[in-house]
Amino acid sequence: MSTVIALETSDVRFPTSTSLDGSDAMNLDPDYSVAYVRVVTDDADGHEGHGFVFTIGRGNDVQVAGIEALAAHVVGRNVEDLLENMGATWREFVWDSQLRWLGPEKGVMHMAIGAVVNALWDLKAKRASLPLWQLLGRMTPEQIVELVDFRYLTDAMTPEDALDILRQAAPGKAEREAELLASGYPAYTTTPGWLGYSDEKLVRLAKEAVADGFDMIKLKVGGNLEDDIRRMRLAREAVGPDIRIGTDANQRWGVAEAIEWMSHLAEFDVAWIEEPTSPDDILAHAAIARGVHPIPVATGEHMANRIMFKQFLQADALQVLQIDATRVGGVNENIAIMLMAAKFGVPVCPHAGGVGLCEAVQHLSMFDFVAISGTTEGRVIEFVDHLHEHFVTPVVMRNGAYQAPTAPGAGTEMYAASRAEFAYQAQARTVDA
Ligand SMILES: [Mg+2]
Repeated sequence: MSTVIALETSDVRFPTSTSLDGSDAMNLDPDYSVAYVRVVTDDADGHEGHGFVFTIGRGNDVQVAGIEALAAHVVGRNVEDLLENMGATWREFVWDSQLRWLGPEKGVMHMAIGAVVNALWDLKAKRASLPLWQLLGRMTPEQIVELVDFRYLTDAMTPEDALDILRQAAPGKAEREAELLASGYPAYTTTPGWLGYSDEKLVRLAKEAVADGFDMIKLKVGGNLEDDIRRMRLAREAVGPDIRIGTDANQRWGVAEAIEWMSHLAEFDVAWIEEPTSPDDILAHAAIARGVHPIPVATGEHMANRIMFKQFLQADALQVLQIDATRVGGVNENIAIMLMAAKFGVPVCPHAGGVGLCEAVQHLSMFDFVAISGTTEGRVIEFVDHLHEHFVTPVVMRNGAYQAPTAPGAGTEMYAASRAEFAYQAQARTVDA
């Protein structure tokens, strides 16, 4: 028996805006940050759970406050009770009737729940001495279905549908685990394509990506059309005809502008257009998908919850589904989303980069391969080579693929020294006219 003795938070910000790493058409000068949570227990083995929400700077303190609002649900609780039925724990947090008013199930409070849920999964995996992807992959179909909140989903996917998908994937799980351990999970890289980089840097990094074994890169677009056409041409020349090039507008356009803009880039053989418009606009995405066909529309990194994903799938408004490890309510909700993607036959290509998103989301894709979709066909995890050195179990890339993690946990633990070194020092301030 052990008890949660503290929920410790920290506001960690890296000054990435000085190098324009991460710059795109909407996010001009991000300071990559995390609202970090550490679940401290009196566990005899000293296990702790670590989780976080990724933000890009200002407002990270608001996200930290959201996490702290969950302390009453966790501190003083029996660890085994919290971890034994993670579906029930998730529902307890999300169904808190007062906190729910702040969403429901969207925004700062929902992401805060995601951080705490992910920290508890990290703790559970460490206690089981397994990496999260294997812990999840070895659960029975019935145990996995129990993790999902089907309220609001059954018009698209029932528990029986989910069980069918999981049972269908059950044969061959051991072989797929072995395959991941041998050769990893395919990735693509956004490193060459930030909008703030010079043409020379773009070309150099695109060539390096191919040399490193990636068969897809992605470019930010949507700032200036002439620049985009020039950059796409340079990138296509640099990588040759066989490497896929995705594009990402980071919500920059309305419907007509998206269709018009992409008509000028189509000649460069675009793998997908990501976030062409507002992440809340299902009908606009559906119209853009029809208008830019056959270029697939990709979205999901800013989608608030599983109910939005459901509607995008029902409306055929996305052709590539991009989960994010810290945007929705944690591992449980991402499992619901991946199950729906399987039901609708849409590939999951996670958003990553930021701080620790690669470390966290690889576990979800690997679990998807083992237990849900059973395939990596048409699937790639985003990779950006930033800030991995701050993590206790950083991602390992080889031949353009994420190598399967073997360390116990969810990959979400940042070194205490990094958290201390980059702790944000709030400025004293007064607000007046
Ligand atoms: Mg993106």
